[in-house]
Amino acid sequence: MESRSFKPKFILKEGIHGQGIFTTVKINKGEILFEMNGNIINQPTRTSIQIGKNKHIEDDIGVHVNHSCTPNAKVNRKNRTFTSLRDIEPNEEITFDYNKNEDRIAAPFTCHCCQKIILGKLKSKIKV
Ligand SMILES: [Zn+2]
Repeated sequence: MESRSFKPKFILKEGIHGQGIFTTVKINKGEILFEMNGNIINQPTRTSIQIGKNKHIEDDIGVHVNHSCTPNAKVNRKNRTFTSLRDIEPNEEITFDYNKNEDRIAAPFTCHCCQKIILGKLKSKIKV
């Protein structure tokens, strides 16, 4: 599948919140990192990424992308891609802000950078 041709760019290794996705090449600001493919489900899981209302995708790479409050990438729901927010150097971990993309987090956790509990956008609707 040609949509998988991005794979050599990324490796999986120990990151800020457990295993994470690291780039092996330089990525320019605004570049598409990868396209998400996989099962679409209507409820979030601890590894899914929200791509619409009641639409969550389990992508092979996406499931491993860690959260950061100062991310270098974001989810583009329209074309189901990850896009870089700035230039990313080789060997940097790819991150996105779960709180900006996810309505609610299936498995809330404490952020390593700010010690806040990451719950998702609709925090108030969540019972913890
Ligand atoms: Zn944080």
